Order: sequence, then C-alpha cells, then structure tokens
Amino acid sequence: MSALGAPSSAVPLPAGIVREAAGPEQVVLVWGAGALDALMGGLAEAGNLPLRLTPAETPEMIEVSGAPALLLLVDVDLLDDTTVGTLDVVRAMAPQTRVCVLAGAGSGANGLLRALRAGLSEVVDPHDEQAVAELLAAQVGRSGERVLAVGAHPDDVEIGAGATLLRHRSLGHPVSVLTLSRGAVGGHREDRRREAVGAAVAMSAELLMGDLPDTRMEDAPDMITLIEGVIATVRPTTVYVHSSADNHQDHRAVHRAAVIAARRVPQLFCYQSPSSRNEFAPTKFVAVDATIHEKVGVLAHYRSQATRHYLEPDLVVASARYWARQLTHTLYAEPFEVLRASEQATV
Ligand SMILES: [Zn+2]
Repeated sequence: MSALGAPSSAVPLPAGIVREAAGPEQVVLVWGAGALDALMGGLAEAGNLPLRLTPAETPEMIEVSGAPALLLLVDVDLLDDTTVGTLDVVRAMAPQTRVCVLAGAGSGANGLLRALRAGLSEVVDPHDEQAVAELLAAQVGRSGERVLAVGAHPDDVEIGAGATLLRHRSLGHPVSVLTLSRGAVGGHREDRRREAVGAAVAMSAELLMGDLPDTRMEDAPDMITLIEGVIATVRPTTVYVHSSADNHQDHRAVHRAAVIAARRVPQLFCYQSPSSRNEFAPTKFVAVDATIHEKVGVLAHYRSQATRHYLEPDLVVASARYWARQLTHTLYAEPFEVLRASEQATV
C-alpha cells in the first residue's frame, strides 16, 4: 500500500449509477528515455493513479500525444540551447504545462545551471520513488480542481455549462458529468445514451448516468443519497447544477437535491437552461472565447434532439455573445448563479 493512501477511485459509485464513459487518463510526458525506467518505480509507489508516462522528445510528439502537456519531465542531461528552445515551443502550445527537471546526486552542475537560466527551478530525483510518487499524485489533482456537472437529462449540462467544462479540461481539471435520467420522454433511451457518451468523449469528460424517471424526478426517492454517493466518488471541488429559477420540474428537483448533497463542496454554481425563468440571476460569467465553437461541436452529438431550436448553433453562440457584455475584452461567456465560491476563481 502506498504511503499516499488509496487511489482516487477507492470509493465505488452508488448503486443505480453507471459509468458510461471514462474520463481520459492523464499523460505525463517524459523527455529522456533513460529516465523512464527509474520513474516507473515512483509511479508504482504512488499506487493506482490514472495517468500514463509517455516518452515524448519533440513538440510534435507532445501534440500528437492527444493530451495537453500538463506535466513534462526533462532529463537534465538533455538540456542544451536546442532543447531549451523546444521547451519554449511546448509552453507556447500549452501554457499550463508544468516542467520539472529530472536530476539526481550524480547530475552535473552545468545542466542544473542551464535549467536555472531557462527558468526551470523544479527538480526531482527520478530515483527518489517517494518524491516522484508525490509529484505524480499531486499532478493527478488530489489537491487540485475537480469538476462535477449535474443535470436531469442528457444534454442539460452541455447546454448550460459546456464551454465552461471545456475550459476546465483545457486547464487540466478532471471533469465528470452526472446525468440523472436516460431522457426516455424526449427520445429513444439507447439513442440518447449513445449521444451522451459521444458528447462526454468530445469533452474529455467522465460520464455517469442514473436512471431516474424522466419528468417525474420530484417523486424519485433518495436522489440526495444518489448525488451524495457520486460526490463521495468524484470528490469534486466545484459542482455545476440547474438553477432553481427553471420551469422544468425535473430541473428544480435536481437543483434542490444537489444543493443539499453538495453542502461540503467548496464551489457551487447554477447554470442556465432553455427552460430557465427570467428570475435566473447570474453573477458569475466565464469567458469562453476559446471553447464556444467546440461547445457547438459537442452539442452536435445530440442528433435525436436536432429539431430543438435551443440546440441551433447560432442561438448557442449568440447567447454566449450576449452574456459576454458583462465582461471586458471577451466575446463569449457562460452565465452562472453563485451559491458558493472560493476566493480565487478556478476558471
Ligand atoms: Zn433537462
């Protein structure tokens, strides 16, 4: 057993919730094949972390790895003017990248000096399994931001917060979507499940689905317990849910249950729905210039709902354009009511 405790998936999902899509594992890029073997010891020491160590030695390899380079480990002996230049390219591609230099007792001072001059001050000894384990565990986000978005029906979360969830993902925050029904009233169950999976995969999000009775969620027993169970598994730091200012009875029921279930989650925000009332009163606006068009692509997965006007791309984009008037230097924004927020915004 690792000194760092149980892996993040230690708490099983509650009965009645199915994981329909797994979120992607995180990729840690290792520059310097010689260091990879040594690092595996640290990965083993850290326990069953959902991440993969991948050798990548050029910006192109980092790009094709399909993951934002959130942690890049560089062998100190490889640092020269060319590689330092390459690191600059990587950081321009993925500004959130954390670069850590691999150096041990036997490493020469020249490489370390070069690292310092390049602004790389984080150093870990690849043979120090405990130090590597701690670095990797921190990377998985044990103390970092984790997001859970809760909706009554397939497509609710994506319509209300899709671009913001994509922004979380681009910052490396793991995102889970909990959809409490299969949306059987609005279409064929299996079609809607498949569409929801497609949308989750497009957002690089985990998809958890319940099977509460569509349009009759107010009568569903134990919805609070169900959401509490998911929160125990996902351990979110931020929860997004329906607003209470909503004409749909299921949305209001999910709002009420989630507010209670998420009482210990540091941040709790409510998103807008097509059925929101005018009383919806957002005070938080997330700039989504970089992800609004990707959101349109995510919504396109809901083909069975294509006749619904609120999924029309120009309406989705125009709504975000409208809310951006609350921010400066922003073209597109998504609005949220704030039920609870940390001092420091995470998106
Ligand atoms: Zn809905």
